[in-house]
Amino acid sequence: MSFLTEDEERQVVAAITEAENGCHGEIRVRLERHSRPNVLDSAANAFARLKMHKTRLRNGILFFVATEDHRFAVIGDAGINRYVTQDFWDEVTRTVECAFREGRIMEGLIAGINMCGAVLKKHYPVVDGEEDLDELPNDISKEK
Ligand code: CA
Repeated sequence: MSFLTEDEERQVVAAITEAENGCHGEIRVRLERHSRPNVLDSAANAFARLKMHKTRLRNGILFFVATEDHRFAVIGDAGINRYVTQDFWDEVTRTVECAFREGRIMEGLIAGINMCGAVLKKHYPVVDGEEDLDELPNDISKEK
């Protein structure tokens, strides 16, 4: 699946690493070919399969893209949803989809990742003496 070039993937991973830097919270990107009728169902399913709920603070965020169906969704775990409302997810979705429509896939993902990173840094900063653990890999997970 050549949705993003290798170089673009590296830039997305770098954005995830930067977004997670200095805060607790885990961001991942999952690419699959197709989506269920409701893309949020597919995103929730991927979230569970990737065991993204297995973070200490329940603050995982998943960017889900159905590459052939051209569908996108972002979902966050209970820990994030203590601090943000649906408006936040809607805004991230709008930002990413707007870029996708212009064919700017990498830019859209990075813009969304940056928005989520700002929320994590605000609400889950790593304070002195705490370890900044990377609980989930920053790579892009792809359907085989
Ligand atoms: Ca991580």
